[in-house]
Amino acid sequence: MNRPTTRGRWPLAALLLILALIAGACGGDDDEPTVGANAEPPATKPTFPQGTAMAALQTKGKLTVGTKFDQPLFGLKNPVTNKVEGFDVEIAKIVAQAIFGGTLAEAESKIEFVETVSANREPFIQEGKVDMVVATYTINNARKERVDFAGPYYIAGQDILVKSGDTSIKSVTDLNGKKVCSVTGSTSINNVKEKAPQSDISTSFGTYSLCVEALADGRVQAVTTDDIILLGFIADNPGKYQLVKAPFTTENYGIGMKRGDDAFRTFINDTLEKSYGNGAWKKAFEDTVGKSGQQAPQPPKVDRYTAGAAAGSSTTTTSTTVR
Ligand code: GLU
Repeated sequence: MNRPTTRGRWPLAALLLILALIAGACGGDDDEPTVGANAEPPATKPTFPQGTAMAALQTKGKLTVGTKFDQPLFGLKNPVTNKVEGFDVEIAKIVAQAIFGGTLAEAESKIEFVETVSANREPFIQEGKVDMVVATYTINNARKERVDFAGPYYIAGQDILVKSGDTSIKSVTDLNGKKVCSVTGSTSINNVKEKAPQSDISTSFGTYSLCVEALADGRVQAVTTDDIILLGFIADNPGKYQLVKAPFTTENYGIGMKRGDDAFRTFINDTLEKSYGNGAWKKAFEDTVGKSGQQAPQPPKVDRYTAGAAAGSSTTTTSTTVR
């Protein structure tokens, strides 16, 4: 008895389903803005007042950026593509896009990346070898006497890297009496000298990758620098190393630039703040550091300090003076 009725309902149900599917597909137009929200819309080419660094860079058509070439997650030269990759590289691309317009990929083609190690960042800026440095570069007062900083755009903390299974080091004071590697010209080497004065830092180098090699072959028992740098080496060498997880400083990463160009610094600070608001900063983090499992933190508050009042006026770091 029921069969004809049931049979009669199926075509109607099928029709309703098809109609619903069609309506869904068409109705999607209203939600169309999702396309492109994360798909990097090209920026129009901005215009800048004559005489500004931004106008000069636009005319030159090139932005020279100092970055690290040996630090996984932040700045690492890919030997296959010969391109530098990492969060610092993405931050530089965001700045380049604000200067030149276009897409991030187009902005990247306007950047010439130059390798800067920890010790040559201030001289490279002062000598005009680079227009800016984006290189896990801590903002501090001693450096502000020689260069200026936009940002911060990330906050790290100094920690310790040991071989997996080494439980003899639990905090910075345990480095006393141990062979430790850090890098010349970094805040890290000064911090360890101050907080573990009996540590032996005689086996230190110009880059962190050399320190990690020294740890691998037993020339040192620990490497110390910013946690996020050490996490990059852990991600690159699965199972080999571990983080002590006892951070003992605050490292505010800034974009280093020539001292005294307030218009350029304001422009970069504005660009960073925009990237915090429109998702570009978060995407940059997720596409790089995030790949190692790190969650994107809240971006830090930009510090628009008064130039020339650097010494003693900054609250941006607890790190010791670096000379
Ligand atoms: N952030 C610290 C510094 O700027 C340590 C990392 C580095 O040497 O790049 O000195």
